[in-house]
Amino acid sequence: MNKNDCTPSEAPVITELALNIITRQEHNISRKKISDNALKVLYRLHGAGFDAYLVGGGVRDLLLGQAPKDFDIATNATPEQIRQLFKNCRLIGRRFRLAHIMFGRDIIEVATFRGHHQEPSKNVSQQSKEGMLLRDNVYGTIDEDAERRDFTVNAMYYNIGDYSIHDYAGGIDDLEDKLIRLIGDPDTRYREDPVRMLRAIRFAIKLDFDIEEDTAEPIEELATLLQDIPPARLYEESLKMLQSGYGLETYHLMREYNLFQQLFPTIAEFFTEDYSSPTEQMLDLVLDSTDQRIEEGKRINPAFMFAAMLWYPLQEKAKLLMETRKLSFYDAIMEASNYILDDQVRTIAIPRRHTATIREIWQLQLRMPRRNGKRAFRLMELNKFRAGFDFLEMRGEIEQGDTQQLAKWWEVFQNAGRNMRQAMVADLDASEGQPKTRRRKTLRKKKPKAS
Ligand code: ATP
Ligand code: MG
Repeated sequence: MNKNDCTPSEAPVITELALNIITRQEHNISRKKISDNALKVLYRLHGAGFDAYLVGGGVRDLLLGQAPKDFDIATNATPEQIRQLFKNCRLIGRRFRLAHIMFGRDIIEVATFRGHHQEPSKNVSQQSKEGMLLRDNVYGTIDEDAERRDFTVNAMYYNIGDYSIHDYAGGIDDLEDKLIRLIGDPDTRYREDPVRMLRAIRFAIKLDFDIEEDTAEPIEELATLLQDIPPARLYEESLKMLQSGYGLETYHLMREYNLFQQLFPTIAEFFTEDYSSPTEQMLDLVLDSTDQRIEEGKRINPAFMFAAMLWYPLQEKAKLLMETRKLSFYDAIMEASNYILDDQVRTIAIPRRHTATIREIWQLQLRMPRRNGKRAFRLMELNKFRAGFDFLEMRGEIEQGDTQQLAKWWEVFQNAGRNMRQAMVADLDASEGQPKTRRRKTLRKKKPKAS
């Protein structure tokens, strides 16, 4: 859904692409596999005399026999002309104007072919000092549009006019060889839009392809260019990377290419040679469990993932604050939460509604050891209790000892009937009545107010 990220090059970096046309008889894409809404849009454009193609991931995934995430359409109709054809059309985008055709919650994105920029004019195209394209509003031919696309396997066009596939950059061959290959000169293409480095990793994992040698080579060195990308865009990309069902593998490959480090600098401070720090163990656990949940069709919450990823960096920061500023554990955690989240949103703009949940999940970790009286019953009523408990269980796996015991206690408590629950709390009350329970010393220095 982000063809507005598809950016052109000022310099003619690409030698002309050779078009290969695959006729209907020679490929396996059936219209039955294309969504009704996408077909409607394609046919209406075609009926009005315009060229209309299905393009990008839609074609790529169908050729691979997979179900596309979305269907993107490219046409020679201008956004205004598209709007005249569809009542349910909205024009969006600043970097590149696109038409969204709305069918309830299903949105079909229609983009006008993008062209070369002969004379860069401020209104239609703009490039930064570093070679990054900031604006891109020149329309062009389908050939030019193909050169603007990122990878060869993403530059195949399915023509609704005769059901043929137009392959501009050797995408069919690369699909067979299972290769992610940039169109044009990799260095230039990454400088134009550094997010392409993330996309290379994402597609390699999702499709189980290799990254072609020249495409892979510059990534590690150019990775720092991601620092120039707006945090809001990086937030969207980070979710696509980590919450699309292959988060664990994607993280590992991103890390090899020095990309994860750019998006999560606070976390990267805790990286070790043998991947053994608690932070790294937690990354593996939470990303694996996210992947599993997606496979099982369960809901996933970005806040939970970020809360887990940042938990041990939070602990370290709090420890430091306790030492240097003589803060209580509770106050140190509260203050460290601000530091850690402020740092993180500088690279990835996690929306406020999620940072609020992250804080809640963290605070629950402080509250869950304190279960006596009515506390345990009240905690269970909280909205985010389940998330807090799931996270406590993960911590238990890593920390073992008291944390694991506590997670077990809560598990039993949740599954117990009323009488059993009361007995469990009474047990605690009895032991708390005795002097010197061990946990108190660390957690009861200062009594937090209910948050
Ligand atoms: P998926 O939807 O499965 O994530 P996709 O290939 O369809 O994969 P989209 O982000 O939907 O990816 O983009 C659609 C198409 O737009 C891509 O296939 C590619 O041709 C082009 N595109 C998207 N982003 C860029 C970019 N940053 N640079 C160049 N081309 C891009
Ligand atoms: Mg797509």
